Amino acid sequence: SQVPSITLNNGLEMPQLGFGVWQVPDDEAAKAVAKAIESGYRSIDTAAIYKNEKGTGRAIAASGVPRDELFVTTKLWNSDQGYDSTMRAFDASLDKLGLDHVDLYLIHWPVPAKDAYTDTYRAFEKIYADGRAKAIGVSNFHPEHLKRLLDETSVVPVLNQIELHPQLQQAEARAFHAEHGIATEAWSPLGQGKGLLEVPTVVAIAQKHGRTPAQAVLRWHLQTGNIVIPKSVTPSRIEENLDVFGFELDADDLAAFAALDEGKRLGPDPAEFNLGA
Ligand code: NAD
Repeated sequence: SQVPSITLNNGLEMPQLGFGVWQVPDDEAAKAVAKAIESGYRSIDTAAIYKNEKGTGRAIAASGVPRDELFVTTKLWNSDQGYDSTMRAFDASLDKLGLDHVDLYLIHWPVPAKDAYTDTYRAFEKIYADGRAKAIGVSNFHPEHLKRLLDETSVVPVLNQIELHPQLQQAEARAFHAEHGIATEAWSPLGQGKGLLEVPTVVAIAQKHGRTPAQAVLRWHLQTGNIVIPKSVTPSRIEENLDVFGFELDADDLAAFAALDEGKRLGPDPAEFNLGA
């Protein structure tokens, strides 16, 4: 497909643009993932807590696309952190997905109050060593959490999936990641479709290129080097969000995007998010 790949720090190739399924019920996820794969997406981002690993797995099985051409990510939920519980949770995820391996397994949140992410990550290292995940990484880790992981464990996470969009550009995290060979993956890349897509600067840049605001924002991510996983259940938008390789933002556009950063979080601050602890 036309989607470029990012080479992760262990040599694995990951499509720079994939499909996210947060807040999509299982049956609907099966339909949306089927549509996404048919449209040309090859990377799918789910999580145990999304409760749609089964539907996602059904769509993958029915797609007819060879397994080695797909990149499947799932995540360990907070309440399953700890070495043994991670092993059990990973088995359950594989079972629901109907797969013998995932491409990427992520710790969903650090959950500082639980203080179990290093033990959890040791289980991830075992899963990785056994080839049941082609790569392992984290999500929602602040640099301080990553620092501790780098100090106390062996395998450098391939990426950190964090909230990132033009209104929350995450310069500090991105710099830390780059310094350590960790890729940056953006969740809620479209700002959850609220507000961001109506910001006049974004609308104007989109109009200038004859594209939609969502396409302009995705282009910004790609040109910034982020991995993106936009979500939609609307077939036309699933296609629209993949059709972002026929134009390029120029230096003026990128400068205008840079000015939109206002540190605006839509989700919780990972330092304080202890749900499931
Ligand atoms: P998003 O930024 O991808 O926005 C999705 C919403 O934007 C849709 O529900 C729709 O309302 C709107 N939208 C989508 N395409 C559009 C288009 N072309 N035009 C206009 N509106 C459009 O938000 P998201 O779902 O929060 O994030 C994407 C993915 O990131 C999730 O599905 C999930 O896989 C992942 N995620 C991970 C975490 C985490 O903690 N690791 C948290 C949130 C999301």
